[in-house]
Amino acid sequence: MPNTMKAALCYGPMDVRIVDQPKPLPGEGEVLARVKLCMTSGTTVKQYARGYPGWTYPFGWGYEWAGIVEEVGQGVSTSLIGKKVIPSYYRGDCKCWFCRHGQPNLCANMRLPRAEELKTQKPRNLEGEGAFREYVKLKVDRMQILPENLSLEDAASVPTVAVVVHGNYNVDINPNDTVLIIGAGGIGQLHGLISKLRGAQTIMIDRSQERLDSAKKNGAADRVLTAGTTEEAKSKLKELNVNEGWGPDVVIEAIGQPATWEEAIELVRRGGQVLEYGGCKEGTTITVDTYRLHYDEIKIVSSTTLSPIDVTIGYDLVLKGLIRPSIFISGYYPLAEIKTALDNTMNQKGLRYAVIP
Ligand SMILES: [Zn+2]
Repeated sequence: MPNTMKAALCYGPMDVRIVDQPKPLPGEGEVLARVKLCMTSGTTVKQYARGYPGWTYPFGWGYEWAGIVEEVGQGVSTSLIGKKVIPSYYRGDCKCWFCRHGQPNLCANMRLPRAEELKTQKPRNLEGEGAFREYVKLKVDRMQILPENLSLEDAASVPTVAVVVHGNYNVDINPNDTVLIIGAGGIGQLHGLISKLRGAQTIMIDRSQERLDSAKKNGAADRVLTAGTTEEAKSKLKELNVNEGWGPDVVIEAIGQPATWEEAIELVRRGGQVLEYGGCKEGTTITVDTYRLHYDEIKIVSSTTLSPIDVTIGYDLVLKGLIRPSIFISGYYPLAEIKTALDNTMNQKGLRYAVIP
């Protein structure tokens, strides 16, 4: 069937179906890429399980992908055919206050509206978007051609590396620091690898021994602690005698739960820094001991999305082989079995999966 393609669309919470869609035609200044793989991730699974603010069903999704240019539109060199490609993630032409002041990750035009604002917004129906499908159309100035020697598996996850870079660079990490990371999933492990590249020693806490074993194997954690509660984490951390028992210099929360946000603040040493990285559900709150915040001079920072510079850094780290995101791939599934890939990721069976459309 030359004019149709297979695509996975989400029709409701955990309701994914494979449908036929028209195969896109590349227009002027565009290419058509054959998607070779698209990754499941914590974010895609959240969208699968509960949708996303402003999205209406059915929607197409999946954003970490890599492919091969198969056709080119008018005005585009045919020399691009056969090249490996990933999308680039920033327009860079916005003139809003934040973009003009060097904070494009907070762009007024890209930021997701909060629930109350949603009512006044026109809902977006993302049918025909995303990359859990056979073909994606790209504008030539919004894509990155990859060198032959870079694997599609590593390249596909550049956006995730970039988002973690953005957060990790929000805290100072020095070579004699100990960084404690709460959560040993793919994101926590990326924080571990990047913190180590910055010279630190890393400790990782998780309740899953399997994840901690994988963090050790992947070189993301020097030491690991199995703990399910803050009290357990505290007492096991005490045994490690980090900084003469005062605790780690930096704590990174990589789960996205209010309880672990609070735990991060409890575990850091006096004068230490906390990065609250994992996004929690809208409307949740945490309680902070003001005495501790003031007299122990704790710095708490957060992080959201990424800026173009982070994509550049993330891409460089992957290109140089300093970060190899392919190590987080727990398996491959054809598009027809995308539900298994999503369910496994959601149920924390393995880390993330490559879907092959
Ligand atoms: Zn903007």
